Amino acid sequence: MNLILLGPPGAGKGTQAKSLETIYGISQISTGDMLRAEVAAGSPVGLEAKAIMQSGGLVPDEILIRMLASRLQADDCKHGFILDGFPRTVVQAGALDELLRAQGKTLDAVVELKVDEAVLVGRISGRFACASCNAGYHDTAKPPKTEGVCDTCGGTEFTRRADDNAETVQARLAAYNRQTAPLLPYYAAHGILATVDGMAAPEAVLTAIRQILDAKAPKAMVD
Ligand code: AMP
Repeated sequence: MNLILLGPPGAGKGTQAKSLETIYGISQISTGDMLRAEVAAGSPVGLEAKAIMQSGGLVPDEILIRMLASRLQADDCKHGFILDGFPRTVVQAGALDELLRAQGKTLDAVVELKVDEAVLVGRISGRFACASCNAGYHDTAKPPKTEGVCDTCGGTEFTRRADDNAETVQARLAAYNRQTAPLLPYYAAHGILATVDGMAAPEAVLTAIRQILDAKAPKAMVD
């Protein structure tokens, strides 16, 4: 099962990708996470990407395409992948088509998570994650059960993304509308686009995505 989760920042792509990983035994590929790891490592790519990410703009296509080409060949993508944050431009989508063709793979589905813009800002500016296991939380919508303690691993240190602030969010939304939204007609023309109401509760969104995927491919590996 090879799929793309498409949607603006804060639409819930990362949350859904994590659930789908377990259900279908496939791997989440988050280009944002990959870039943040490069920034943290201080690599040449990280040094180039850091300021762009902080401004809410998009990192150059050629960097992303190079990163993705090697990531797609990793062993954990053998049974499939969930692209989260890639492609973000029509150029990236074209490059992805070529990469997949060269590797004898195809896309099963592109799922758009549709969320009102006014809701996105609140979702993004309240989110934080456990510094140890990366479990995601939100100040009001999903605080840890015990304040200051991660539900998943018991960690007590939390982080907030540098670009999850009200100012940068506007730039990220503008980048989505200008550069990424044109992918919707691109994939609609390929006949593989499905849209899900991303305003629903996460469990309901997951059910809707599973219905789409299960109609296209063999049953989920785990129930
Ligand atoms: P995300 O975690 O997907 O919200 O990505 C965080 C930031 O990383 C974005 O605002 C971009 O600056 C950069 N980024 C992630 N994926 C891409 C991509 N496919 N193309 C360009 N920039 C990207």
